[in-house]
Amino acid sequence: MFHNNGDILDETKQKRLKGLDSFVKLKNKPLPEPELLAILRAADDIIAEGGRTMLSKILKGSRERKLLELGLDRNPSYGFYRDLSLEQITDKIDQMIRAGFLETKKSGKLPMIAFTPLGWAVERERRADEFLQEWNVGISQNITPINIEYLKGRNRGMIFLFLYKVLCSGNKKYIPYLTLWERSDFKNVRTEIRHVIKALKRRDEMDAPDWEQLKRERFEALFIGDRDPIFLACQKCGRPFVFDEWNPDYYSSEGIKFPEKCPNCSEKAHLYR
Ligand SMILES: [Zn+2]
Repeated sequence: MFHNNGDILDETKQKRLKGLDSFVKLKNKPLPEPELLAILRAADDIIAEGGRTMLSKILKGSRERKLLELGLDRNPSYGFYRDLSLEQITDKIDQMIRAGFLETKKSGKLPMIAFTPLGWAVERERRADEFLQEWNVGISQNITPINIEYLKGRNRGMIFLFLYKVLCSGNKKYIPYLTLWERSDFKNVRTEIRHVIKALKRRDEMDAPDWEQLKRERFEALFIGDRDPIFLACQKCGRPFVFDEWNPDYYSSEGIKFPEKCPNCSEKAHLYR
């Protein structure tokens, strides 16, 4: 079969255009962070399965039967906008779409809610934190879970991010949970869990530079790969720039830090400091 390189180029170009599209949308002011996070969390349970209406009903805290049957009343964002009308909530969702955090994708005849790469970068981060908090609570109360099956089959990128956060803690207290989890998950995840357990066991005998080196290696092993570029608008000069979330400098155990300035402007700020 004859392959021409044009196809590959087109694909790259399409990805870039998609990113650029997010940038244009980003010029619309995003909602304040607590609202932004709440909407993304609400969306997380219905991605590709529900549309704007269902999303607004979760946020409203609707007692509609379908919602309750799906267990959506257990979503942490359920009832977040209790005091707003469904119409006002839908406006907020549309604002999220215009700001480039959410999009709708046709599934059959109906447009379903989906994350944009930017929206997912934020939600994945928050979700991984949520799992870490759950573990912290469980460990502090001496609870040994029966199994860790609930983590199995989740989005791989989010699970790796969670494991990376566990690693960055450098804390041995997670080892029993990790050991339990390692028994139940799929091969790729198991391998990474073992890496983290090994690293936590060795933490005490490692000096700071070695530890940083190890974290960087795991980061690269886990996160360098296929990805969609995310374009951000520079707060200073207004030009678009590619946000390379895979750059370890933007990454810490506390989460992704979205840079406010383009590389050009941050370099200048650095020079004149
Ligand atoms: Zn700039």
